[in-house]
Amino acid sequence: MADFLTTTGTSFQLENIIIEAKTKLVLVSPYLQLSKTLFERLKDSSTKGVKIKIVYGKDELKPNEKNSLAELKNVDLYYFQNLHAKCYFNESKMLITSMNIYEFSEKNNREMGVLIDREADKQLFEKAVEEVKSIIQSSEIIENKKTERKFATGTNDNGGQKNRKSNFPPTIGYCLRCETRIPFNPSKPYCPDCYAIWAEYSNPLYEENVCHSCGEFELTTMEKPLCYDCYKKVSAR
Ligand SMILES: [Zn+2]
Ligand SMILES: [Zn+2]
Repeated sequence: MADFLTTTGTSFQLENIIIEAKTKLVLVSPYLQLSKTLFERLKDSSTKGVKIKIVYGKDELKPNEKNSLAELKNVDLYYFQNLHAKCYFNESKMLITSMNIYEFSEKNNREMGVLIDREADKQLFEKAVEEVKSIIQSSEIIENKKTERKFATGTNDNGGQKNRKSNFPPTIGYCLRCETRIPFNPSKPYCPDCYAIWAEYSNPLYEENVCHSCGEFELTTMEKPLCYDCYKKVSAR
């Protein structure tokens, strides 16, 4: 019998499906922002050799999301613009739910889900797998590789010479929350819109996922907006 899940159960089972995957894992989610936890779970699976297929839609992936995924082995990425379904499964369990993957850690949303066990509900499971296959067949294959990002060096770069020091500090940084390019300024690491939202609570320790300087996937805060590498470079100056 399939199990009915509420918000907490849905998050719990999503994580479980990733953790317990032995050979294959399929994640279908229109919006794809992976929390640090889920990213690490996925990384473990991919290291174990699990074949991962990720189908997303709506938004283009942001550079930092693409770059994080590009670190994972065995990942096939698919883009299906009109995707609205959310479905997550490994070889034995499937979750069909209202929850996008980025809502994984949102405890305030009211989500519902149904957990299907392949053994117990073989027909149901297979029907959903068929539907996902059909979605994948009409999807665009997205190359899973890093996007090139260079520091903008402003007007006074030294004639294109590859001198690492000349790239620092960059004149352009990334908004900690939405990755919009903004002037590099570690004391103002948010774009105006995100700053306004941040300022409602003004919590200097609120965790974000992007380094203000290099835009890579890192745990950052208003207080510490740079990844360790960038921080070292800034303080070495
Ligand atoms: Zn922003
Ligand atoms: Zn950095």
